[in-house]
Amino acid sequence: MPIQFYNTLTRQKGEFKPLEGNTVRIYSCGPTVYSYAHIGNFRAYIFMDTLRRVLQYNGYELNHVMNITDVGHLESDADEGEDKMEKAARKENKDPYEIAKYYTEIFFRDMERLQIQRPETIAKATEHIPEMLEFVQGLVKNGYAYETSRGIYFDISKLDKYPVLSNRNIDEQIAGARVDVDEEKRNPYDFALWIKAPETHIMKWESPWGLSYPGWHIECSAMGRKYLGDEFDIHTGGIDHIPTHHENEIAQSKGLTGKVPAKCWMHVEFLQVDGGKMSKSLGNTYTLDQLQEKGIEPLAYKLFCFTAHYRTKLNFTFDTALSTQKALNRLREGFLKHQEGTEVISDEKIKEYEDKFLATINDDLNMPAAMGIVWEIIRNQEKSKQYAKLLLKFDKVLGLDLENSKQYLEEAKNVELPEEIAELLEKRKQARENKDWAMSDKIRDELKEKGYSVKDTKEGMTVEKM
Ligand code: AMP
Ligand code: ZN
Repeated sequence: MPIQFYNTLTRQKGEFKPLEGNTVRIYSCGPTVYSYAHIGNFRAYIFMDTLRRVLQYNGYELNHVMNITDVGHLESDADEGEDKMEKAARKENKDPYEIAKYYTEIFFRDMERLQIQRPETIAKATEHIPEMLEFVQGLVKNGYAYETSRGIYFDISKLDKYPVLSNRNIDEQIAGARVDVDEEKRNPYDFALWIKAPETHIMKWESPWGLSYPGWHIECSAMGRKYLGDEFDIHTGGIDHIPTHHENEIAQSKGLTGKVPAKCWMHVEFLQVDGGKMSKSLGNTYTLDQLQEKGIEPLAYKLFCFTAHYRTKLNFTFDTALSTQKALNRLREGFLKHQEGTEVISDEKIKEYEDKFLATINDDLNMPAAMGIVWEIIRNQEKSKQYAKLLLKFDKVLGLDLENSKQYLEEAKNVELPEEIAELLEKRKQARENKDWAMSDKIRDELKEKGYSVKDTKEGMTVEKM
């Protein structure tokens, strides 16, 4: 069945086929490891994971590279401000390499908690300085770059067209632009490839232009080329990368190889919080740990991301995320019921679901619709092991670890209750043993007020955080 992806470069959906053979070559812009990744960042990596899984589900092999930016990402996209790594190092009074190591480890721990597959190659910027330098020297040689007192800049006027990815009109922007542009630059949109390091700068390398360090965009061009070649299949990132980072990556590659490096450019829309932007100053850049503290598992956050198509904005609130946590547990319960089921389902019916699911995920990763199919199967009154098997097959795309549903549900039951709640439950248990139903109801209401719902089942009392 054909796969259709939306391509930012062509501004339309088109059929996807790898450039060569059965292997899809992908480059994903990875994290800048100067602080904890937040749930907005993870929306981007959940999208990346779904893309991988959909391609694998279609029988493709993957050669996927993700970078780790541990140098050169300045505070603003306009080559201004401090290097984010150095700034964090100064603030935490640590070596930038220590900072990078610490946040990289936490990033991968969180990726595992979200069951996000690890790309085949993880490429750190600081381990590819020679490749980046070679790239920049090639651009100078080809006449696309020039030296100023600050560093080496890319000359966008040498290109046949700039920008190609975003449809911003740079002439209009230049007319309205601020006037304090670097006067040594030939064009206001020229960007830094290589930056001369001030005396106090920590991360710097020998180069023909003295001690210096790379600009942010060059790492992705150099590492993408090293591992995937001059032209590969897919490049991913967040929509914030379109106007500057990816635009400039394309410019660099065209200057060196004459080619746009990737055929298909895929961008994930932003996650918002409480209807607005996420930002450190608003204190709403939540981490997975902060979600977990409120009873939202990483996998519930992943399921939450499936409620919107990756190209639409998604609004996070704790209320909706808590409902998704409950939905995840219902999904697990529903799966287990099918696993114990005895009904026999026709092969045609199973095939019908399989075809529908494949058509849906192949339609530009339509996960909300794919989840609709999953829920239909879960809710089916005919409980069947065949459905459980089908759900496990679909889980190769979802990556929700349905296989271990039982363990997750047991763990959820055993979560430690606050002492006060545990005491109330014990009191209620005694009241029920004494057949003091009025007291039992009173304590149930008290628990409800404190945010816990109690159910009485054959096996005893169960309690759930609401
Ligand atoms: P950074 O570590 O800042 O380079 O960002 C890592 C990734 O997260 C990039 O692909 C960004 O586009 C993406 N990103 C940042 N904020 C958000 C957000 N609120 N929603 C979705 N993706 C985001
Ligand atoms: Zn990048």
